[in-house]
Amino acid sequence: MPTVREIEQALFDVAPRELAMEWDNVGHLLGDADWPVSRVLVALDITEDVADEAIAKGCELIVAHHPVMNCRWLPVQSIRDDTPQGHLLLKLLRSGVSAICMHTNLDAAEGGVNDVLAETLKLVDPGPFTDNQVGRCGLLAESMALPDFVRFVCQALQCSGVRYADAGRPVHQVAVGGGACGEFEDAAIAAGCDTFVTADLSYHQFLDAKGKGINLIDAGHFPTEDPICAKLVSYLSGRFPELTVEKSASHREVIHYYVEGE
Ligand SMILES: [Zn+2]
Repeated sequence: MPTVREIEQALFDVAPRELAMEWDNVGHLLGDADWPVSRVLVALDITEDVADEAIAKGCELIVAHHPVMNCRWLPVQSIRDDTPQGHLLLKLLRSGVSAICMHTNLDAAEGGVNDVLAETLKLVDPGPFTDNQVGRCGLLAESMALPDFVRFVCQALQCSGVRYADAGRPVHQVAVGGGACGEFEDAAIAAGCDTFVTADLSYHQFLDAKGKGINLIDAGHFPTEDPICAKLVSYLSGRFPELTVEKSASHREVIHYYVEGE
């Protein structure tokens, strides 16, 4: 059986640590590197539900995208059972479950989060458009009206709704940035894109989109990144045939859309 350390190395082979942002926290974050692993659960985030699922299924390792601890939105100064995060980390450790997180290194990697998103949205010849190689931009085989593209994005990413701003342009050259990539809007414009699909956009970005001449689509953080999980499952299964690897069944979109009148 492979160890946690060997699985971490296999993941760094496809998403090298050097590609991670300097503020990020990636790699083997929790547990013993020498623990042998027979079952792996793959999820976008290590939530309480995902931890319970891993324990119930006898998984010794969770491979996740977002760091389970000590990154920009989740600083760790203490690990105490009376805080939600401390409770989660202690539960994993007490149950012998390790965690490996592949975050911004996997965003930038070839075949990573953004290549998978571009592939899911059927972009032709997608390539990087940001200095840090995080986003991808490519062409649709045929240009589409924005409402048709919005419908296609919803179906392809299995989201129940998107927020979007119409700049009055048909959709042909599309930039994608899985998760919170709104900061790359100007780079998408500079690359000549008419449309940008990402998540976590602000009111002011939508307000200014028409003036800047770019259609903005916020398809949600979970829907734009979740497609990477299936790729991680197939990669790890192929690399370690003796491992049982599965995608979490308990982690799903937590944001719901209520639309008045429907
Ligand atoms: Zn993310």
